[in-house]
Order: sequence, then structure tokens, then C-alpha cells
Amino acid sequence: MPNMSLEKVKMPEQDPQVRNKNFDEVSLGYTPEQAMEEATRCLNCRKPFCMQGCPVGVPIPEFIQHVAHGEFEEAYETITRENALPAICGRVCPQENQCEGQCIRGKRKGAESVGIGRLERFVADYHREHGTKKLLNIEKNGKKVAVVGSGPAGITCAGELAKKGYDVTVFEALHKTGGVLSYGIPEFRLPKSLVQQEVDGVAELGVDFETNVVVGRSITIDELQEQGYEAIFVGSGAGLPRFQGIPGENLNGVYAANEFLTRVNLMKGYEFPNHPTPVKITDTVCVIGAGNVAMDAARTAKRLGAKNVYIVYRRGAEEVPARAEEVHHAKEEGIIFKLLTNPVKIEGENGWVKSMECVEMELGEPDESGRRRPVVKEGSNFTIETGTVIVSIGQSPNPLIRQTTPGLDTQRWGGIIVDEETMKTSKDGVYAGGDVVTGAATVILAMGAGKKAAQAIDNALKNK
Ligand code: FAD
Ligand code: SF4
Repeated sequence: MPNMSLEKVKMPEQDPQVRNKNFDEVSLGYTPEQAMEEATRCLNCRKPFCMQGCPVGVPIPEFIQHVAHGEFEEAYETITRENALPAICGRVCPQENQCEGQCIRGKRKGAESVGIGRLERFVADYHREHGTKKLLNIEKNGKKVAVVGSGPAGITCAGELAKKGYDVTVFEALHKTGGVLSYGIPEFRLPKSLVQQEVDGVAELGVDFETNVVVGRSITIDELQEQGYEAIFVGSGAGLPRFQGIPGENLNGVYAANEFLTRVNLMKGYEFPNHPTPVKITDTVCVIGAGNVAMDAARTAKRLGAKNVYIVYRRGAEEVPARAEEVHHAKEEGIIFKLLTNPVKIEGENGWVKSMECVEMELGEPDESGRRRPVVKEGSNFTIETGTVIVSIGQSPNPLIRQTTPGLDTQRWGGIIVDEETMKTSKDGVYAGGDVVTGAATVILAMGAGKKAAQAIDNALKNK
């Protein structure tokens, strides 16, 4: 008999007033008993809508039935047939818009879907602690493929091709692999040891990682082709921050969110001068924007000791783009939301930020995005005293690769244009996927693109 409880089994979490002072993971994961109890809420539907919501088609009811019967290794094998990074996806996928958003258990008013993400995370963590590693016997085919970028798109593409026998080299601009999983998403949401383990798993398949190589500067795509790489996959992400273009954005104390998070996650800026890259945190920190990146920056600033951390957003609560769970966690940790508020000027003293002038907004008619357009309330200007401003209003692809690769067609906003079936670009032998194609999106979509490209590269090269 299925368990007809309307609510998910609660997942233990650190207390908000404790966790907002440390970088340990917020959510602690299910115990085997909790996972089995949650799994019995699944109806094992004949037509599982949840699977239609998963961009990589994980056999959801099948793995959940294994969990319900305590067959955790079988559950792991079922998930990893389609998803190579379940420990990461279980933690960061926006399940409420994907599998869980389609689950029929969540359709009744007041009812919650099955906790698919929590179960996926449990299965991956259980396997990490108790599972045995299977050694693959890979026969090499002597063909070389290059991958640009070691984010989820790049590592998925590299892993899939290595399993098929290709000699794969990943070129990564930073000194650390993992892309946004390492430099962007903070430790308290995604432990870095876990990301490292996933990258190590790909390296064990024989993939070679070359860090500190900026493709387009250290070496170009054309030069890689001359070196005998028969296919190249570009998964270089969308790391170029956008700014509002208001006065004062070049003052000291103004950071792009990605730069701020990189300084903290990768360069341990909070341990300056023991680590050489400083990060300045003042009593009050304003974060402009309300997406997932803004939530990560605000919650990081709080953990670094800021007393008042404001999310400053020009639209209302209903338009906040961040995941509901991240907003909930941020509020619990004491982040203050200043909605319907738009910055117009950042003011400084001796080159450093001193305050930020804002205006109040109200919502007018819907704009081209379907959301109600924010309109300035005349005469509503006010000032927030602050020493740190973190701008988090979006990112686009870095122009370096498109500027140094003749024959590579791109969108006006910089995204690489691909054939959606094969991820092939306009340049022969060059494929692309992830944020560099879609603009800032999600981990699972980047992984899906990496997997699709690997299949297309294999189809093209094995017939060559
Ligand atoms: P990236 O992860 O950006 O990786 C690209 C890699 O390419 C980087 O390592 C970069 O250094 C490297 N690179 C760039 N240019 C070059 C070059 N010229 N030569 C060599 N290497 C190069 N998504 C979710 O699903 N859930 C979340 O909770 C979530 N939270 C996020 C939080 C933050 C702070 C950020 C920034 C993003 C978040 N996202 C989230 C989005 C998600 O992380 C991205 O959609 C995903 O990482 C894109 O993967 P990618 O492989 O295309 O690019
Ligand atoms: Fe289980 Fe929900 Fe999927 Fe049905 S829709 S199989 S209840 S997870």
C-alpha cells in the first residue's frame, strides 16, 4: 500500500542561526529509513509524468521502487544509466520545475510531490559511502577529441567519449576543474569534495585535464585542429557578468556576483592575507538581483560576517527567479528582501563604495517576457548606507572564443549557434553545448547537451 501522506518526509537541516555562520552543507540528507519511507509515497504510475519533466529521462519510478525495497545499489545503477552526476543533480536541479513539478502526488491542493531530488541525492550518497566501483574495460580507438571547459557540459561530454574509447583532453582556463560547480555554487549547497570526486571519476576513465589553458589565448580552436584533434566540443559556459550601467559601478567594493563567489570559493579570499586575493565585507551588503546566483552571493556574504544583507530587486515577490527553496533558506538565514526597489547610483568616498541610491518601483502592464513591467514611483528616491555592492543581474558567454575562431557563427548576444539535434556548430568538427549555447541555464541542461554532443561526435568519427 502506498504511503498517502500529503507531505514529503522532512530532510534534516542545520539550524538557520547556526548555518548562517558556517560553510557546511545546509541540508543533511535522508537516512536509509527516511528514504525508504519517502519512496513508499510513489504510486509507481503506469504513465509516469515525472519522467517527462526530467531533461535526461532518468527512470524515476523504477529507481524509487528500488529505494522502497531497500535496494540502494540497484537504484544507483538505474539512475546512472541516464545521469552520470546524481549527487550533484540531487542537490542543485530545480526539481520543482522539472520531475517534481509533473509528479501527480503534488497535483492535489496542499499536497507535495514525491521528493525525487532528495531520493536521488540519498542514492548517490549511499553509493559513495557503501558502493563498490566497477572497473570498465575500455578499448581505445586512437582518435583524439578536445573539450574546452570543465563544467558539467564539458565533463559529461568528456566522460561519455572516454567510455567509447576516445583519447579526450579537457582544456580549462582556471586552475581548478568543475566550472560553476566549483567556482560558483557555494560549499554550503554543493560540497567541493563531491565535485572533485565526480571529476576524478572522469579522469579515471582516462580523460586528461589541462588546467590554466585559456582557449583563444593560450591556443586557438584552429591550432587544436592542426594538432590532430578530430572533434572539439566547446563547453565554455556563460561567465561574463552583465552590469546595469549606473554611475559608480567601477568603485572599489562593487563586485560582479561571479567574481565575488570565485574569490570566496576558489581563492579563499576571506582568509586574506594568508591567501593573496582579498574579499571585502562590510556590515551592510547589497546584492542587486534575485536569481539563484544572487541568493548564493547574499548567503555567502552573511556567512562572511555581514550584519545586514539586502536582496535589491526591481520586481515583486512573484517574479523572483530564484528557486523557492533557495529563497526560503535565504530568508531563514536572515537575508532581507527589498523588492520593487531599483538602484540608480552607487556613491563613493576615496574610491570606495559608501552608499547606494535607489528608487521604489510599482508593477505596470506585462512586458515582452509576460511579467509585469516595473515602473519608477516618481520622487521615491532613498539611500542605503553600504560598503559592498554585489551585482547579480545575469551573465553571457565570454567573447574570446568567438573572436578567435573564424567560421564560428554566434547569436547577437554571443551564444554559439548549433544544430539542436547534433550540437554541431557552423565550423567543421566543432560542437558546442551548455550555457555557451543557451545563455545562463541549468546544470542538467548543460549535462544533457554534453551527452548529446558526445553521441554526435561518435557518430561522425566512427564512420570517418
Ligand atoms: P560552466 O559551468 O560555466 O563551465 C564552463 C567552464 O569553461 C568554466 O570552468 C570556465 O572556466 C571554462 N572556460 C571558459 N572559457 C574558457 C576558455 N576560453 N578556455 C578554457 N576554458 C574556458 N544551475 C542549476 O541547475 N542549479 C543551481 O542551483 C544553480 N546555481 C547556480 C549558482 C551560481 C552562482 C551560478 C553562477 C550558476 C548556477 N547554476 C545553477 C547554473 C549552472 O551552474 C550552469 O548552467 C552550468 O554550470 C553550465 O554548465 P557549463 O558546463 O555550460 O558551463
Ligand atoms: Fe512516482 Fe510521482 Fe513519478 Fe508517479 S509521477 S511515478 S508518483 S514520482
